[in-house]
Amino acid sequence: MVGSVPVGGGAPVAVQTMTKTETANLQATMDQIHKVAEAGADIVRVAVPRDRDIEALRTIVVRSPIPVIADIHFNHTLALKAIDAGAHCIRLNPGNIGGPDKVAEVVARAKRAGTPMRIGVNSGSLPKHLHALERDNPVEALTAAATEFVALMHRLDFYDFKVSIKSTNVPNTIASNRLLSEKIDHPLHLGITEAGTKWSGSLKSAVGLGTLLADGIGDTIRISLSTFHAEEEVKVAWEILKALQLRERGPVLIACPTCGRLQFDMDSVVMEIERRLEAYEDPIEVAVLGCAVNGIGEASHADFGITGAKDEGLIFSRGKPLRKVPTGQLVDVLFEEIDKYTTSKRIDVDERAAAEGARWLAANEDETAMTPERLAALEKAEAAAHDGGDDVLAALPEIDEDVSPVAGRRFTRA
Ligand code: SF4
Repeated sequence: MVGSVPVGGGAPVAVQTMTKTETANLQATMDQIHKVAEAGADIVRVAVPRDRDIEALRTIVVRSPIPVIADIHFNHTLALKAIDAGAHCIRLNPGNIGGPDKVAEVVARAKRAGTPMRIGVNSGSLPKHLHALERDNPVEALTAAATEFVALMHRLDFYDFKVSIKSTNVPNTIASNRLLSEKIDHPLHLGITEAGTKWSGSLKSAVGLGTLLADGIGDTIRISLSTFHAEEEVKVAWEILKALQLRERGPVLIACPTCGRLQFDMDSVVMEIERRLEAYEDPIEVAVLGCAVNGIGEASHADFGITGAKDEGLIFSRGKPLRKVPTGQLVDVLFEEIDKYTTSKRIDVDERAAAEGARWLAANEDETAMTPERLAALEKAEAAAHDGGDDVLAALPEIDEDVSPVAGRRFTRA
């Protein structure tokens, strides 16, 4: 347990982040902690490099809505003081804290206080005796550092800790965590260290952490991004967990990539929908389709969706049309429907509006497109023909060359 948050043993993967403020600046640090907690952080870590940060930590652990980990490097007395200040967990790199005696001192204090720890190994700060191995085989070196620290903790009769191996290198992070998970039986904290900007860092983290999480490895995660806004790290962490269906939090937005069929400004519409959905907590799925070419079958699992066209679009729900509306009103009417649902937990269908929507959809669908429904109809017709039926030709769609030409495309039509 880190405060009230269970870690490992089948508990949900916990989302962690770290404040970017000077910890001693109580107001700024508390503001950021509230922001990350609101964004969904389960646990927050604060840097404690000086005594004045310890002073602030005493208040932070009391006021914080989520458990607080004190991040300590180099100075074991700060770890002792952070435990005394009531930190819910101490993050320590045994390799840079001044030797086993000092680690033992911190462990003794943590045991007395019932404070758990995170033992962190970073690719940039391995113990000296592993430097040669690190050059030849960084994965072995990272894993060896972690298992040596774990053995030290066990010798000190301390078991209340999780372990992290962080590297800037994604394949090494994946390989060393896989190896470590086979060797030890402690919860693992995952992260790609110094991952980069919001764009590249999110991608690296999604690849590295996503691969491990999909393997069932990892109990807490932190996305390290070069931005002051720690809540962005939390949002990325949640997107990874949601994508892997490991946890649910708020709506899931799906949107088509658009193509040459698009006739309205869907980019702006999707951004607006994403912005407004941030205010919702229900795990509804919302789909945005740029056109009705394939009907709404591809998004039939979505709780709500829109499909747009030049002047009018359709609001649909769970594969059924709800109403057609002018394109400029699509977002507002979509959110009217979502609001009705989140209040009543029911989807109310106005039969007349739904029928009108269905007619609009039929008129806007591309009759030549191979929707799953049409493919099924074709297969059925073909099967009937093999059985001696003679309706197969009649069942094939008439493809109008003017509507769907093959010139310039990657196939020909017999
Ligand atoms: S839904 Fe329409 S606009 Fe979007 S990618 Fe598919 S065909 Fe293109």
